[in-house]
Amino acid sequence: MATKAEVLDFIRIYGDKMAEHRQELTDFDQAIGDGDHGINMNRGFKAVSEKLPTLGDKNIDDILKAVGMTLVSTVGGASGPLYGTAFMKAGTVLKGKEELSDQDVISAFEEGVGGIKFRGKAVQGEKTILDSMIPAIDAIKKSISEGNSMTVALEAGEKAAWEGVEYTKTIIATKGRASYLGERSIGHQDPGATSMAYLFQAAKEAAK
Ligand code: ADP
Ligand code: MG
Ligand code: MG
Repeated sequence: MATKAEVLDFIRIYGDKMAEHRQELTDFDQAIGDGDHGINMNRGFKAVSEKLPTLGDKNIDDILKAVGMTLVSTVGGASGPLYGTAFMKAGTVLKGKEELSDQDVISAFEEGVGGIKFRGKAVQGEKTILDSMIPAIDAIKKSISEGNSMTVALEAGEKAAWEGVEYTKTIIATKGRASYLGERSIGHQDPGATSMAYLFQAAKEAAK
């Protein structure tokens, strides 16, 4: 079960993390991209955090949609439309909800990852956001199916996300700017997979 307060906490905590890790994410992007991923994510979530106080009396679906629209409109680059679509899509399966069952949370993550796949036309193993997101969602689903609480499942989700981040160091980028480097992208950690792992870390921290 997740309450609206927890969803708002999750968004706020994630925004704080994007500020805290701005330089780190930008450094990863400097190595294999154009060195702006931390700047992009921080810009987007700063705009989100300015909007958050006006969203408290909305339903969870409208909150997520507003977050997504803010990201799309304030973040340039690949990550804005991808993260923005994920939040907007996640909102569409939570119509009118004031609190979420475990299944709602899973559906929202699945809809979100579906949005990223659709928008970016990538699959797992191309050194993108998907390489931490897909394993994290799989781990959450598995943990819930084994009878665990969402709090425990989100811990498993974060662990799988970081394993996915490690995996990105071993593969060639075939989508996004890093794909221009070809084999030289091997050995580097993908910035987008990293920012997505922080999202699962924020979700875990927000869950009570
Ligand atoms: P840009 O590359 O436009 O500067 P960012 O630096 O903000 O945008 O984001 C780069 C990240 O976006 C990459 O590290 C990668 O994880 C992610 N990414 C790029 N293209 C795709 C895609 N098609 N699908 C999923 N994720 C992608
Ligand atoms: Mg970039
Ligand atoms: Mg850029």
